[in-house]
Amino acid sequence: MSDCIFCKIVAGEIPSSRAYEDDLVYAFHDIHPLRPTHVLVVPKKHIASLAHVSADDEPTLGRLLAVASKLAVDNGSTDGFRSIINTGRVGGQEVSHLHLHILGGAEPVGPMVSKT
Ligand code: 5GP
Ligand code: ZN
Repeated sequence: MSDCIFCKIVAGEIPSSRAYEDDLVYAFHDIHPLRPTHVLVVPKKHIASLAHVSADDEPTLGRLLAVASKLAVDNGSTDGFRSIINTGRVGGQEVSHLHLHILGGAEPVGPMVSKT
């Protein structure tokens, strides 16, 4: 999608701090980290949200989760992490390109993650 910021990040048209990349997914550090480790993993293909996936997306969704643990450890969260996918208005999704948040660090993330 031409006006999607995460598509532009995947394409290299908007700079990002890359954490990982393969044929299906791209990971980068969140611009406003909520915890010492805050990495976003996105499908390279534009998928608007988790409410927009189809059966064809199953390999991509599997990869999204499969790389999460490695990304958490590689980025300083060696003793666990929180993974979050916000979806749609009710889920508080701000960027309409499916993304998995990986949050962690040395200390527990806590019972909830607040944006404020
Ligand atoms: P959402 O609320 O949609 O689940 O999360 C969107 C996330 O994307 C936010 O945590 C926000 O900080 C991050 N974000 C938005 N724009 C950019 C950007 O241009 N670069 C990076 N690295 N992160 C972004
Ligand atoms: Zn997109």
